[in-house]
Amino acid sequence: MSAPGWATDLLAQVCADAGVAPPGLLWRTRRGEHSTGVTRRADGTVAVRAGSDPLDQRLTLLHELAHWLAAPSRRRRGRSVHHGRAFYATAFDLYRRYGIPDADALRLESARYRSSLRHAVALRVPGAATALAEHRAAITRRPRRRWRVLVPEHRVTLERDGRWTVCGTCGQRVVGVNLARMRRSRRPVRHVLMTAESA
Ligand SMILES: [Zn+2]
Ligand SMILES: [Zn+2]
Repeated sequence: MSAPGWATDLLAQVCADAGVAPPGLLWRTRRGEHSTGVTRRADGTVAVRAGSDPLDQRLTLLHELAHWLAAPSRRRRGRSVHHGRAFYATAFDLYRRYGIPDADALRLESARYRSSLRHAVALRVPGAATALAEHRAAITRRPRRRWRVLVPEHRVTLERDGRWTVCGTCGQRVVGVNLARMRRSRRPVRHVLMTAESA
């Protein structure tokens, strides 16, 4: 289906204002409130699957246009920074300039990418610090899980279990930096296996 007029107009406006060639716009619909999008730089397209919420459609298109305007993603420590500070500087700027109120931008963007709140605080988006504090408070208000000792503290003896390295006493997998640290350690490493029960 062809994109609605407001979307083609918005795309043309944003790209004209930024002085960049516009991408092609592919538009489909999806069930549900939220929209999704993807920018394919190599194909020169932005694709949106539009949900039912008009404001979320607009934010989704602007989010993808922020990818389009961004310099091809930099790589840091081998990992491309797709939704980093530079991206959100562009995205929140587009949201503000093209009709998404800050409070809605924070709400809708953080519903997809929780990390956007942290960037929004650093970028001084009005309301971001409050939204982040509320989110943190909501986490601490969640019913606490009670933890119970399943296997009492013991010395770790590394054993192989198929492709994994496990603790020979409790069977817990030991991976990554922990494994490297244990192999290097001259003193025995100790462990306790806890289990969570819902309160
Ligand atoms: Zn994105
Ligand atoms: Zn163990």
